Amino acid sequence: MPMAVSPERPRSGITKLTGGRVVRGSELVEEDVWISSVTGKILNSQEVFYEHHVVADDIVDLQGKILCPGFIDVQFNGGFGFDFSTIPQDMATYRKGVGRLNRQLVRTGVTSYLPTIPSQLPEVYHNALPFLGPSGKERNPWEGSESLGAHCEGPFISPTKNGIHSLAVLQAAGNGFQDFEACYGAENLRASDTSPPAVSMITAAPEVAGVFEAIKETTRRGIKFSIGHTESTFEEATDAIHAGATMITHLFNAMRPLHHRNPGVFGTLGEAEAKERPYFGIISDGIHLHPTTVKIAWNAHPDGFILVTDAMKTVGLPDGVYDWTNGDRFVKKGPLLTREGTGTIAGSSATLIECASNFWTWSHATIPEVLRSVTSTPAEMLGIAERKGTLNPNADADLLVLDAQELANGRRNFTVHQVYKFGSLVYDGSEGVKADV
Ligand SMILES: [Zn+2]
Repeated sequence: MPMAVSPERPRSGITKLTGGRVVRGSELVEEDVWISSVTGKILNSQEVFYEHHVVADDIVDLQGKILCPGFIDVQFNGGFGFDFSTIPQDMATYRKGVGRLNRQLVRTGVTSYLPTIPSQLPEVYHNALPFLGPSGKERNPWEGSESLGAHCEGPFISPTKNGIHSLAVLQAAGNGFQDFEACYGAENLRASDTSPPAVSMITAAPEVAGVFEAIKETTRRGIKFSIGHTESTFEEATDAIHAGATMITHLFNAMRPLHHRNPGVFGTLGEAEAKERPYFGIISDGIHLHPTTVKIAWNAHPDGFILVTDAMKTVGLPDGVYDWTNGDRFVKKGPLLTREGTGTIAGSSATLIECASNFWTWSHATIPEVLRSVTSTPAEMLGIAERKGTLNPNADADLLVLDAQELANGRRNFTVHQVYKFGSLVYDGSEGVKADV
């Protein structure tokens, strides 16, 4: 007798996430979120359920965990042993390295980011930038974290606020935007018919010759201009904002400090008009800034507050001495990273979720407020708030399932439980890594 074959329902590619605490604005609400691995987007649950009577392939009970958009890091220099600024002999090796990094980074909850290159010689930008532009076109979840375009930090910065950037490669921009084109490659600053420019953000010092003049053309091309590594006075920073600058790179670090008679770049957060206040990056790794400094920045302008890691390739590696570029080396000791010989702080070795946990521990910010600083605020700054950093219908289904714990010693910790990229579960902390690394 032939075996009865049960007719199989065609798979819809739809997952229903239920029983979670969902971040909606300033609230945590209990509601279901429907996502599609076919479109890679968040669905309108009313429509799905009541109008189309769609049946989910999978129903996931989140058991009270937090559901939030995937994290966005707008300043990330490398990790897991890979450095965006180190150019190998063979660019196929570079491409592979970027791919492997993306699949590792997504496991930390960062589902999209700006690969960042601190001050380098033009040839480094020319070689690297073609591989670092926006990478989500294929919408392939298994590629891991997605580049939203490169962040060029320098080399048009102040020689007295260089931090660990090599003085030998710093430049002025006497010919304005033309010098940006010569340094980064004109094709990397230009949108094509199908995609935005490879470069999404440039950090430069407005007082360096020619930089102020280049701001307008930079932003006209849809590239964000961020003030950083700068001796700018309050007035110079304000002028840069009027010319189109919308961001400050790692506020307080590598810039003139607040003085009561000249409040410097930080002073722009005190503007009466909210629209005149820029967004700003904050490194809350416990080393770059005192917890109180972080709180002052948050209180000054919570809507502009963006946590960044400024992480270097040593994230995910053991303590030791590591080669960097331009003949420099740095020393990793726990989360502390310094330039060998000088002791200067050299970026961080913290993950974004560690930075978020620190900020949550130090401040009175609520969970939705903390999470906003790594999701919707960076997305707004980049002008992509419709599709990233939100759980609204039609946004990309880049989601995190988080545990949030408040320990008896006052420490508060987020941990990444699951990561969805374009509607597919790519990391499950309870089952190990799904994405092939
Ligand atoms: Zn920097």
